[in-house]
Amino acid sequence: MRDERIHGSRLIPPALVSLLVFSLCGSADAQDAVTAIRAARVIDGVGSEAIDDGVVVVRGAEIVAVGSADDVSIPDGADVVDLPGHTLLPGLIDSHDHPTLRPDSLELQPMIDQRMAPGEEQMLRAIRNMRISLLGGTTTVRVTGESSGIDFRLARAIQDGVIPGPRIIAAGMPIVATSPGAGPLWPTDGVESIRRRIRENVLGGARFTKMYLSDTSPTTTILSREEVCAAVDESHRLGIPITSHVVGNWGVSIRVALECGVDAFEHVRPITDDIIDLFVEHESHLNITPLIFIAGGIRWSPEMWRRLDNEMTSVEEWIDFNRATIQEARRNNPMGETEDRPQDVFDIAEAGAVDFTPGIRPYQARLLEAHRRGVPISHGTDTLHGTLLLNIEFLVEGGFTPMEAIQATTRVAANGLGLGMGDRIGTLEPGKLADIISVEGDPLTEIRDLAKVRFIMIEGRRLDPLSFH
Ligand SMILES: [Zn+2]
Repeated sequence: MRDERIHGSRLIPPALVSLLVFSLCGSADAQDAVTAIRAARVIDGVGSEAIDDGVVVVRGAEIVAVGSADDVSIPDGADVVDLPGHTLLPGLIDSHDHPTLRPDSLELQPMIDQRMAPGEEQMLRAIRNMRISLLGGTTTVRVTGESSGIDFRLARAIQDGVIPGPRIIAAGMPIVATSPGAGPLWPTDGVESIRRRIRENVLGGARFTKMYLSDTSPTTTILSREEVCAAVDESHRLGIPITSHVVGNWGVSIRVALECGVDAFEHVRPITDDIIDLFVEHESHLNITPLIFIAGGIRWSPEMWRRLDNEMTSVEEWIDFNRATIQEARRNNPMGETEDRPQDVFDIAEAGAVDFTPGIRPYQARLLEAHRRGVPISHGTDTLHGTLLLNIEFLVEGGFTPMEAIQATTRVAANGLGLGMGDRIGTLEPGKLADIISVEGDPLTEIRDLAKVRFIMIEGRRLDPLSFH
């Protein structure tokens, strides 16, 4: 049975929803099909240890049993999938991505050009990018801002099986002030236009609101406090959470957003001791995009993407290429490891907004501090689709255990989506949707084994027979 909270448009009348659900469910056979997946170990995402010699039993779209082979009996007639040497784990969640975009020089104009391209062109990129994400083990992508309803159409096409891809949680058009970063399509200035955009988004299928805030002075952020609070009020009034991009030199954007009641925070700069205190106090969720942040010095180009798309033959190679590129950029910029430096990703100074890029090591230390103090931290690839593993490696390098970094990508990320999603995905537990992947090897002892994704299931459907190209 499809979960209306996850899939259904909010605006379809309940009677029609039951008709749709009835027709979508297909035959009783498919709904009741039972699969038992056996592997060397199971990371259920709940406990701190893996279950050795584990089994996950799936009936229809849901998990019905998880445990060791000694404890779980496999129902008669079940389709048994044996994965010796593999680790089963919950499907990964990319908590911040823009499927239509690819980094191109990391400057503003190429990004705006991609946004301004005809919708069909943007959709072609999105389809390719989401295939890579899926084959990299990502089963849910939280899409933090797209134009022209592309994310809504993408979500529906994937849901209906027109194209393969991870589940899409879409925000629609973001809330953003007139500024260079907004480009020509996006600005929402004034309370009325903000409320209207949120209503239009919800009508289109938005599951949350995305807002952009950058510090403009030691006491101001780019939208007025009144505008920020109105965005929060309208989102909550319509029953959806709101998250905000918050960057800057002084932490004003973070403070204003927290005071207005924003639910989650993207990127999050600066992270100081004071800011960590505020996150603890407000019990707020921190969603970081470390890869795109450390990739700041890389000159991404269409030629690099051509190589990735045409010369790589698997997601492992795709990830290896990106890892090597980032490692080289880090070697070439030793100062970036330890020292804060002026913002070098997007030049937003023209808008009066100020950002800075923290040194990688101090940033990691602050994240670890926030994590140890109980701040939920998840992460997203933010246009470097399919490379969640490199974020996970970043967290492990910063002191997270491999299990903690995996949970930041599964259970913690699911809770961060709001909408009760933490009750449906993010762990392997009876009653949850069967979003399951396997990797060859043991990522708890060798984190890079997470690139060896072999088995992929979303809501009980196998997607791993897909080819990379
Ligand atoms: Zn983003």
